[in-house]
Amino acid sequence: MTTENIIAERRSAKRTESLQAVNPTTKTQLPDLFPVATEEEIDASVAAAHKAWKTYKQTTGKEKARFLRTIAKEIEQLGDVLINRAMAESGLPEGRIIGERGRTCNQLRLFADLVEEGSWVDATIDEAMPDRQPLARADIRKMLVALGPVAVFTASNFPLAFSTAGGDTASALAAGCTVVVKAHPSHLGTNALVATAITRATEQCNLPEGVFSTLVGGIETGQQLVKHPLIKAVGFTGSFRGGKALFDLVNSRPEPIPVYAEMGSNNPIFILQEKLKTEQEDLATMIAGSVNLGAGQFCTNPGLLVLQKSDTTTAFLQALKDAFATLQSATMLNEGIFESYQKGKAACIAAEGVSLVFSGENPSSDWKGEPGFATVSGKRFLQNNHLQEEIFGPFTLAVLCEDAIEVNAIAQHLQGQLTATIMGTTEELANSTALIELLSQKAGRVIFNGVPTGVEVCPAMHHGGPFPASSNALFTSVGTDAIKRFVRPVAFQDMPEMLLPKELKTENSLDIWRTVNGEKRRG
Ligand code: NAP
Repeated sequence: MTTENIIAERRSAKRTESLQAVNPTTKTQLPDLFPVATEEEIDASVAAAHKAWKTYKQTTGKEKARFLRTIAKEIEQLGDVLINRAMAESGLPEGRIIGERGRTCNQLRLFADLVEEGSWVDATIDEAMPDRQPLARADIRKMLVALGPVAVFTASNFPLAFSTAGGDTASALAAGCTVVVKAHPSHLGTNALVATAITRATEQCNLPEGVFSTLVGGIETGQQLVKHPLIKAVGFTGSFRGGKALFDLVNSRPEPIPVYAEMGSNNPIFILQEKLKTEQEDLATMIAGSVNLGAGQFCTNPGLLVLQKSDTTTAFLQALKDAFATLQSATMLNEGIFESYQKGKAACIAAEGVSLVFSGENPSSDWKGEPGFATVSGKRFLQNNHLQEEIFGPFTLAVLCEDAIEVNAIAQHLQGQLTATIMGTTEELANSTALIELLSQKAGRVIFNGVPTGVEVCPAMHHGGPFPASSNALFTSVGTDAIKRFVRPVAFQDMPEMLLPKELKTENSLDIWRTVNGEKRRG
């Protein structure tokens, strides 16, 4: 099927309002029109997701694994049609989009392996103790079960990996939840293509139609979706404003539900003096590259550097300026993001005590994110909380402190972060336990001598941090633990053996890891 056919399938002549995606490189609208879902269609999608969930939650780990792998295969089979569309809608280069498709499919396969193996349900069995004195103990068996239909808001900065079949969708489907995706208005064609791949996988695996659906629309569409009483959880990646608005809205529902919103983060890098002395130029190149990666449009982009004032630091700032001067600017994802970058950068530079050190020039009217950096004293930074607001783009602010005490005061003052990085020699790190402790209170991931950009998809990853980095620091949106956002534990007390789910029956026929009477066991 051609792109045109796939996209045409999702059009309907009846509807009057449509959205069009814009190619950020050419600044022209892409020709395809995507109808905005009506109120009735939103209701129908959620009702179908609820109906499908009743069947889907009963599917075995093997069946879900087959579904997730089939989605990955179908996405790959979209071939260049998908790559070209995602490039046109995001302005991102081919290599990045191909890499992101690989990450998306690997994520789906990782969750497939997880649910096929089965131990993720955390089966815990405390057998009855009828003779226990003074009170007998009942037989209690607990496991994780799927929450129900999940609303997913896709991210602007990852048209594939945090999008229609991205981490939120993959982990929700793996958990046994059904999914309704609110498409990002920047990636309407990419969304339609990936949705088609998921629909094909649904058919091939004989799953009910409502297991997955997608809606096109604006803020009202998303709000109606999360207010729907049959929606049981929300996954979101985007701005603080959007995430917080959805969080507040959901908490005002008669039945509040979990919202897993990944919002804003400055991802500070603390650079210690000895390290700086010996690796000045390498650090400057590494940090400049990380700030400018993907036009700075990563949730892990380093927006703050924290250093002590010294001659070494002055020389480092010069090396950083030189490194920034070699950077190439890239087209940003959309006009809104470009404008908000310009505004954020201008507001930061205009703040009292902030000095601009480097800013690329953009002589054209392209939506290019010109890299830049500025400095501010530790004292000023502590006085102005606006300097902690995320500037989404290739910009960083170096906070220059009087001494190590002020460095720790900055760490203490920081709001919640997805990541915090510390760069130091082995000896310096050994002497920085107070700083490391502060950073682990503030961030979901603490990095040593590396850069925060690049988030490995693996079981040990934690991509989430204290508010406002995310709405619930207990959970990650990357890695296999992301599945835990869409389940809840249920304990069955004295449930007859024949009624127990396979995971909890006395005979461990699934051969999963379980905790039985306090002991981890398999077989
Ligand atoms: P966004 O504006 O928060 O939008 C994300 C999604 O949420 C879109 O589908 C949007 O719908 C919806 N939405 C936003 N506000 C809403 C509300 N009040 N009620 C219901 N739905 C709402 O994020 P974005 O478009 O991805 O990028 C804008 C800014 O977000 C960037 O400039 C950047 O500051 C930040 N951002 C941060 C990260 C991060 O990881 N930290 C990632 C991406 C973006 P509509 O678009 O249809 O209105």
